[in-house]
Amino acid sequence: MSEVIEAPGRARGDEGEPARISHWIGGGLVAGSSGHSGPVYNPATGEQTGAVDFATVEEVDRAVQVAKEAFTAWRALSLSRRTELFFRIRGLVDEHREDLARFLTAEHGKVLSDAKGEVARGLEVIEYCCGMPELLKGDFSEQASTGIDVYSIRQPLGVVAGITPFNFPAMVPMWMWAPALACGNTFVLKPSEKDPSASLYTAELLKEAGVPDGVFNVVNGDKVAVDAILEHPDIQAVSFVGSTPIARYVYETATRHGKRCQALGGAKNHMIVLPDADVDMAADAAVSAAYGSAGERCMAISQVVAVGDVADRLVEAITKRIPDVKVGDGMDPGSEMGPLVTREHRDRVASYVAGAPDEGATVVVDGRESSPEGDGFWLGVSLLDNVTPEMRCYQDEMFGPVLGVTRVSTYDEALRLVNENPYGNGTAIFTRDGGVARQFQFDVQAGMVGINVPIPVPVAYYSFGGWKSSLFGDSHVYGPEGITYYTRGKVVTSRWPDPATSRVDLGFPQTR
Ligand code: NAD
Repeated sequence: MSEVIEAPGRARGDEGEPARISHWIGGGLVAGSSGHSGPVYNPATGEQTGAVDFATVEEVDRAVQVAKEAFTAWRALSLSRRTELFFRIRGLVDEHREDLARFLTAEHGKVLSDAKGEVARGLEVIEYCCGMPELLKGDFSEQASTGIDVYSIRQPLGVVAGITPFNFPAMVPMWMWAPALACGNTFVLKPSEKDPSASLYTAELLKEAGVPDGVFNVVNGDKVAVDAILEHPDIQAVSFVGSTPIARYVYETATRHGKRCQALGGAKNHMIVLPDADVDMAADAAVSAAYGSAGERCMAISQVVAVGDVADRLVEAITKRIPDVKVGDGMDPGSEMGPLVTREHRDRVASYVAGAPDEGATVVVDGRESSPEGDGFWLGVSLLDNVTPEMRCYQDEMFGPVLGVTRVSTYDEALRLVNENPYGNGTAIFTRDGGVARQFQFDVQAGMVGINVPIPVPVAYYSFGGWKSSLFGDSHVYGPEGITYYTRGKVVTSRWPDPATSRVDLGFPQTR
């Protein structure tokens, strides 16, 4: 079922050779010169299908220089022309959503329907950005003082960069480049080295839409490329999405180099289930949100907190559903969950299941026993019960198809667990009691809250972001905060007096 994907930026190697995946600089493919590359796999077969070039400091600099050159004309382009281009981008991404999704499945492993969902959510951000004339409107105050008008405008920052994770290779870059370009910035993207082809395909689509060369660039690479971005004097802002230790490092390094930075980190999303919840609905939600995309989502539910006597019924209902989860090649329309992204990651996730009994947790379902055969990076779904906060499987973001259940007696205990957790990305509560749900929304320390909604990813006209160790910086991504992030405010005070009335006045200007 697995198919080889001919991706842009992939010069096919000889028969059986991994394809070479290069950079996109100044409107075309540029082969890397470092001599260093990283393997790209088809996670469903374990086969290395690509080798991605790792950029040198000079190659990153080249991308920044072409983006800097392109900025002058791009920021001067009228809003109506830029909007027209964005409608064309929107049309092309929509037309090619299946192709884009296939790159995701081929390199990330997620099932095709999930990959299409990823593209659809990214497309919503592009659609939001089509409204840029409205979004970039300033304020105007006539006669703020006698004969004086005051107005505000928002202007682009210049060259901005995005550094993205493996788990949403199309959508997360769209969270960044779409608002950045809409606001008049030019962009350098450093995608995950694990699944880079979607970014190169995006570059082709943007070129086809008519985006001028140099406005959107892709440099592939590892820490060398990331550090070159963080330290580059001509990059004004860095957006990052990835794990918390790297997010912290990126935020500290970028801001030390004088840049604006938003760095989104990892997560440990709790789903509280109260005794009055509909158990079947809660179990459906928990299974969907924990095992969808093999748990490799920053908004995945990784921890259920069962309050009071709901626990036994809930664990039973979840357990009953697990054998029905169809694990298989993402290109197979019958599959509901694909493999993990790499062998190392699969082994790391499996080690939490192996270690759970020694920590005192109960392994209700062991996914290692139901993993499909073959060399793919497979791991079936696991369910751990009686998980407590001291355990590694509770503290660490496992980022795999492993769901933990913690049992508590009261709502207050459940709330405390969420609020004491170092992460604060998403959380959810399942209940039929509107009063408690509203209290939860008021009390809980997390950036995105679901009420009977397990994965509360905000729609494109709100902004996405967590609290605590899930976000470094002040600004959430996309939506209104994305527009603010990628622009700088300017306030103009203007008057057109009769020159005959002019005089020297050393007093501080006052409004009258
Ligand atoms: P990662 O932190 O390993 O990598 C993210 C990016 O940082 C990649 O482009 C990678 O090349 C780069 N990078 C990795 N190590 C680096 C280093 N030492 N120095 C400089 N750069 C480095 O994350 P990942 O494994 O690709 O993605 C999974 C993580 O991303 C999870 O923790 C997940 O929760 C998080 N994530 C968060 C959100 C969110 O919105 N908060 C969304 C998606 C993913």
